[in-house]
Amino acid sequence: MAKQKQTPIKEQEPKERIKNFKEVCLGYAAEEAKEEALRCLQCKKPLCVEGCPVNINIPKFIKFIKESKFDDAVRAIKETNNLPGVCGRVCPQEEQCEKMCILGKKYEPVNIGKLERFASDYEGDIKSPQIKKNSKKIAIIGSGPAGLTCAADLALKGYDVTIFEALHDFGGVLRYGIPEFRLPKKIVEKEIEYIKKLGVKLVKDAVIGRLYTIEELTQKFDAVFIGAGAGLPYFMGIPGEALNGVYSANEYLVRVNLMNANNSSSYATPIKKASRVIVVGAGNVAIDSARVARRLGADVTVVYRRSENEMPARIEEIKHAKEEGIHFLMLTLPVKILGAEKVEGVECVQMMLGEEDETGRKRPMPIEGSEFVIDCDQVIIAIGQGPNPLIAKTSRMEHGLKSNLIVDENMKTSIEGVYAAGDITSGAATVIKAMGDAKKAARAIDEYVKNKGKDAE
Ligand code: FAD
Ligand code: SF4
Repeated sequence: MAKQKQTPIKEQEPKERIKNFKEVCLGYAAEEAKEEALRCLQCKKPLCVEGCPVNINIPKFIKFIKESKFDDAVRAIKETNNLPGVCGRVCPQEEQCEKMCILGKKYEPVNIGKLERFASDYEGDIKSPQIKKNSKKIAIIGSGPAGLTCAADLALKGYDVTIFEALHDFGGVLRYGIPEFRLPKKIVEKEIEYIKKLGVKLVKDAVIGRLYTIEELTQKFDAVFIGAGAGLPYFMGIPGEALNGVYSANEYLVRVNLMNANNSSSYATPIKKASRVIVVGAGNVAIDSARVARRLGADVTVVYRRSENEMPARIEEIKHAKEEGIHFLMLTLPVKILGAEKVEGVECVQMMLGEEDETGRKRPMPIEGSEFVIDCDQVIIAIGQGPNPLIAKTSRMEHGLKSNLIVDENMKTSIEGVYAAGDITSGAATVIKAMGDAKKAARAIDEYVKNKGKDAE
């Protein structure tokens, strides 16, 4: 009979980890991973696979771990997922594969995410398969999870793939957004190294919309994929947002990620340190910002206009944040940022929850006369982000009001030969959704290029 509880996983102690930027979770050792793998029932119809947006053969890789065949385990994952070290760390498994795991009906589900992470970390020399090349050229815009996934899948099919990245390093949010203590940059680098070994060319400092338009790329390449993400932060539109000491979470996290992450003890920062920080929002981006601010020495409060039940961040991250001493103020909405030149406080109003809105969540409503002030010297706004309008503006592509690209069920845009996936189509979502949709786009691009070849014959 399977053990009821998951094999415990070691983590840095909260008191220690708030003084450094090293990874919080220390991962399974080989014996612990095998013990957890033993819990898997090897179901004939594994529901966990249905719960995985890229359909990893979960029982197959877990069986290899059980048998100590760790290289085979990572090979099995890479049949459908080229970023296992990333996904093992940041995917919301509790909402996906682990939610579907049959064991979870009675006991704790198999800890699939941490087993994926173990297999990926175990992989030593990155081996790439033999690929039969063809001469067809594909342009990929953006090197986040969507771009990297589409590039890898097409390179494996033999295409000559070039990624154009606007920034001076690759990985998108994986490099510039998610902090080191959740996703070490060496893991991102290792995954990108593998993609390079598949023959993918990466060009940095290449802003599409300026360097070339999408239409120009369609002349130079056989097909184009757009995975340019959602890097434009939203603000609240309240008085005081222009004060010194107010950051968008995007700017805050990018600045932190540009710092020397390897030297976690002397983490010199291009951010002015603050003593009391208010973070507005309750998604992964807000919690990451709060935990970074805590590590930079501040007393941190997360302010959210709904209740804890509606917080969109991963449960694991909220738990970690609480352990690290971050305060949470629920049913609270900032209405004004106070200060002469720099931030001195935030005026908030108390909220209550009313009827359900169109998203199925209870609508927050202000309570009259409940205004109060929280003193602080920094405010980080993490209420969401959308696509940068540059690509939508510089092409004839059909797009939504927020510059999100409109695609059909095969991720095809309104321009012939141009496909898109990830946050630029869905709005801010998850790594695995970006990857799942990018895989769909890669299949459609393959079909499109093959059929185009036939038409020309
Ligand atoms: P991105 O990762 O944004 O990559 C887009 C890339 O395109 C960027 O590198 C950008 O520079 C480049 N680009 C943009 N415009 C151009 C242009 N004109 N020309 C060339 N290149 C361009 N998801 C999870 O699943 N779990 C988490 O725990 C999680 N935590 C998160 C924490 C933070 C702080 C943030 C910001 C997001 C988090 N997410 C998380 C969401 C997840 O990271 C995104 O959904 C995912 O990265 C989207 O992938 P993408 O490839 O579409 O876009
Ligand atoms: Fe193993 Fe759970 Fe998947 Fe069954 S559903 S194969 S027990 S991980």
